[in-house]
Formats: sequence, structure tokens, C-alpha cells
Amino acid sequence: MRPLSPQFRSFPWAISTAEAARIAGIEPRDVLRFDGNTMPGPPASAKPETIAAALGSIQSYAHGGHPELLRAIADYAGVGPEHVVLGAGADDLIMLCGRSFAGPGDRVAIADEPTYLSYRIAVWVAGAEVSDESPVLTFCCRPHNPTGALVDLPAARPLVVDEAYFEFCRDSAASLIDDGVIVIRTFSKAFGLASARIGYALAARETAAELNARQSPAPVSTLAVSLALGGLESPPDVGPTLEERERLAARLRELGLEPLPSVTNFLFVPLDEAPRVEQALLRRGLLVRGYDNGIRITVRDARDDDRLVDELAAIRAGRAG
Ligand code: PMP
Repeated sequence: MRPLSPQFRSFPWAISTAEAARIAGIEPRDVLRFDGNTMPGPPASAKPETIAAALGSIQSYAHGGHPELLRAIADYAGVGPEHVVLGAGADDLIMLCGRSFAGPGDRVAIADEPTYLSYRIAVWVAGAEVSDESPVLTFCCRPHNPTGALVDLPAARPLVVDEAYFEFCRDSAASLIDDGVIVIRTFSKAFGLASARIGYALAARETAAELNARQSPAPVSTLAVSLALGGLESPPDVGPTLEERERLAARLRELGLEPLPSVTNFLFVPLDEAPRVEQALLRRGLLVRGYDNGIRITVRDARDDDRLVDELAAIRAGRAG
């Protein structure tokens, strides 16, 4: 195989719920995941009837693609369907952008690092290197993972703006698609469909055509398409999540912690002993995403979030380690 950058690391998936349960000595159903930035439960539209028709013709290919979904996404995003590219989640579209714009010898910039790791993987797998020097492409995560901030939009072009958390703030770079910007979004977060693996990119007409030409054949399943259509029929109300985020932030501040301001469904909490706290929470069946300098907490619901706050308080008081 063609060797990759010596810096290459594959995507660091979190441990399974079954493994977390084993470590904590509890049942998998009692594990609480605050590490995936997903919704605490499935959307109402994720029911058998939503996928029944797709199941009825699951033996055949979706000849002609998914015009109904392209139209529904286009209406939702305020563009024409010729601007939409489908993918198996935002990650698939990040990889598509990487290989479409960059190859061996090229450099690709990533704004506001450290940030989401898929950009690096897309660059490395394309055979390119991550660097700010004359990049052929720039990735920007906006809203920013892991801080939750609505970071400044880089002036660089071409620019990929990953808007995985768009629904939580509704600030978008979509008006710039005819100015060298590609927007990537997903049904994994606010729409609650992470395991369906479906997302989309918005781009200028010619760019979208080029990306579609470079996309793998039939990248999304008809089951995922049906679920996405069901979601778009009644887009999520993120109001309760945003309210709960602010309540959780206030509770964390009561502990003397200082969560960063967030426009997303997660909070970054700077901590001196983040790895120790992450491990201590894991032993109690609670998963958060640990970084060297803090932990990232997905907003769930009041009951789960209060449990997390209580465990954090106990760990910080030294009562549990
Ligand atoms: N971009 C960001 C910023 C993310 O946080 C995530 C999910 N963790 C993704 C993309 C990947 O999303 P998807 O499930 O659509 O591949």
C-alpha cells in the first residue's frame, strides 16, 4: 500500500457501551454516554413505518438516486437540489472533500486546532500533509468541536465548513457556497440519526457536481434516506436542549467549574486533572470525552445531567477516585 504520513493516526473511537459497563461493573443499559454529542433518545420519526416502504424494496438498488431527499434537503437549507451532495454521515463528506481537493505533495490547513480529528484523517489518507503553508484546502469546524464556540470563519478558499452542530445555533456559511465554501452537515446530531449514517454537503453547482462524481457509488442506504426524510418532515426542536445546556452550565459553575460558552449541545469544561476525572467517571459508568486540558460533556436531560454533576462533585471532593 502507498505509505501515509508518518503522523497518521486512525480515528480514535471511544470504547463500547458494553466495555464501559464491564469496567464500571454495571449493566450496559445503566451506562450514561456524555461523549458522543448525540441526542439522548431517538426522534419520533424513527419508527418502523418510516422505513417500511424502503424495506419493501430493499433487494433493489435505488436507481436514479434520491431526488426526493435532495429536494427536501435543498428546501431545508435554502438552496437548489443541484447544490446538494449526499454522504454516509459528515465523516464521509469530509473524506470526499479531502480526496477531491488534495493528493500526495499537497498541504491542507485545519483552522482552530485542536479540533475534530476526521479532517486530519481525510488529509492523511489522501496522501497529503496538514499545514498552513499554501494549502490547497482549509477545513473549519464551526460551531467548533470541542469548545462549542462559533469561531471566526477563515478567509481562505476553498474552505470546507463543518456545520455538524448547525441546528443548535442556526448560524451558517451556506450563503457563501458560490464563493468557494463547501458546507457539511449531518443528520447525526440534532436530528438524532447518528447510526443511520447520513449527511450532506452544500456547494456551488459545479463543485457539487465534481464532488458527486468523486463520491462512491450509492453511498447512502435507502433506510437512511427514509429516516432523513422523516426527520425533515418535522425538523427537531432544539429549544429544550439549549435550555438544559444553560441549566447544566450553571450547575457546573456551582461546583467552581468554568464551562466555556457554547452554541452547541455540548460543554467544554477546562480541568487540570482531566484524564483522572474522565477515568473516575468511567468507573462509575459515565462516559465523557477527555482531553489533556478538560472534558467535553454532551447535554442529555436534567436527570442524567444532574447525575453527572453529582458524580463530578464527589470526585472533586476526593470521595471517589
Ligand atoms: N463533524 C463534527 C464536528 C463532529 O463532531 C462529528 C461527530 N462526532 C462529525 C463531523 C461526524 O458526524 P457524522 O456522524 O455525520 O459522520
